[in-house]
Amino acid sequence: MEQTPQSAVGKGWKLQHSYRSLPDKFFANQEPQPVKDPGMVLLNEPLAESLGLDFEDSEEKALAQLFAGNTLPPGSLPISQAYAGHQFGNFTMLGDGRAVLLGEQVTPDGTLWDLQLKGSGRTPFSRRGDGRATLKSMLREFLISEAMHGLGIPTTRSLAVVSTGEPVYRERVQAGAVLTRVAKSHIRVGTFEYAAQYLGKENLKSLMDYTVQRHYPHVARQEFPALAFLNEVIGQQATLIAQWTRVGFIHGVMNTDNMSIAGETIDYGPCAFVNAYHPDTVFSSIDTQGRYAFGNQSKVALWNLSCLASSLLPLIHENKEKSITMAKDSVYSFTDRYKERYEDMMGAKLGLDTPNENDRQLISDLMDTLVELKLDYSHTFLFLQGDFEPEEPSGFYHPKFQEWQMRWTKRVTAEGRPLEQVQQLMRPHNPQVIPRNHLVEEVLDQAVNGDIRPLYRLLEVLQNPYQVDSTLKPYQSIPAVEWERGYQTFCGT
Ligand code: AMP
Ligand code: MG
Repeated sequence: MEQTPQSAVGKGWKLQHSYRSLPDKFFANQEPQPVKDPGMVLLNEPLAESLGLDFEDSEEKALAQLFAGNTLPPGSLPISQAYAGHQFGNFTMLGDGRAVLLGEQVTPDGTLWDLQLKGSGRTPFSRRGDGRATLKSMLREFLISEAMHGLGIPTTRSLAVVSTGEPVYRERVQAGAVLTRVAKSHIRVGTFEYAAQYLGKENLKSLMDYTVQRHYPHVARQEFPALAFLNEVIGQQATLIAQWTRVGFIHGVMNTDNMSIAGETIDYGPCAFVNAYHPDTVFSSIDTQGRYAFGNQSKVALWNLSCLASSLLPLIHENKEKSITMAKDSVYSFTDRYKERYEDMMGAKLGLDTPNENDRQLISDLMDTLVELKLDYSHTFLFLQGDFEPEEPSGFYHPKFQEWQMRWTKRVTAEGRPLEQVQQLMRPHNPQVIPRNHLVEEVLDQAVNGDIRPLYRLLEVLQNPYQVDSTLKPYQSIPAVEWERGYQTFCGT
């Protein structure tokens, strides 16, 4: 193996390598491939601090070398992880084709956080890829993952972006970059599919034991640990997808390799946010059938979780029939668990505590009205909570919406609760700002053309997305209909 020099840049490094305790089929030793001329673009200091890392006295040049993978942090033993996955329904062998795990940083409270370089060069899993990433797509991941964190949604985080000084060849030549991703782990549904398909029961068991110990340690004591583990993952995903729905997030490429076992949003490729509400909304250029459309995400999660369940079958019960029955019951519970979380979440967005049967109708009538009048999803809730004044003419003054609003007002004020009090309760659930697609594209284009300041400002705004602040109006704008119609997002760029 070639030797990347270790450097003493930054204080507080405490890297472990627990993933290396797994059988060696689960990873390949892989150093990052050096880049020509690294330059620091973004560093997430609050995140560094929460990891116990301090870069205050570090020179920018040394930091750029570090986050480009030209030098390694003390104690790093980099690997690329193996995994498979169902991509748009088709099973394929994948693995980190352009990423290396530097190690797991142990924080002062004893938690492990994966530190991964993405865009760090070819690996044994690169297939036909170049192992690289574009600056625009890595800035996009930084911006949107940090926005999701600000919104209070479980997600991988972004510690740094460096430019590589090297070109990356896509449809046109672009600037290259490396992102440092921080995650509870990078274990995916596809990691279990890989073990089940290729490595046999013993190795599959090693993976499950490792994952349980790392993420769900209480499960180990249960009578059927594999089943209990599956139930935990199902619960995490039900919560996560409800959270996505809350803010109008469309992941865009919910392949099983992009579904985290720890329940974090992972892999910010073609993701986008809904403007005018419609469950069929899709922005991804390759999702021609709408498999990963906004309103389909809970169904796809169920599909992915059934892949996890199939992979776990040999570990659930020694009797195959029993194992299948237990797994099926568990997977089918997702639908009710998601529905429950969805209703609670919608209830909170609308100031309805514990929604009843009539409330369910009220919620679904609202969604139908939004579709019919093509109303903006986020604006709707801000309008109801008194934080948004639409410019006339507006669908919010359409008789159909007004009629719904009257029903809603009557319901939430029924027990003599003042409307202002209800609206106050709604505020923590309805963001004032989300990373609107047109604003994201605008700041990214400015950043790759040399002006990073608008991106900084947007990042700053998105750190406090629930704060009512009249100066944020420009960040609440919606794109022109023609812009929206032409908007496309892309995978793995
Ligand atoms: P993604 O669409 O980012 O989830 O990636 C799917 C698979 O393709 C993963 O195994 C990635 O590591 C791999 N991949 C994506 N882009 C590249 C690239 N430029 N070079 C090598 N592998 C890649
Ligand atoms: Mg992926």
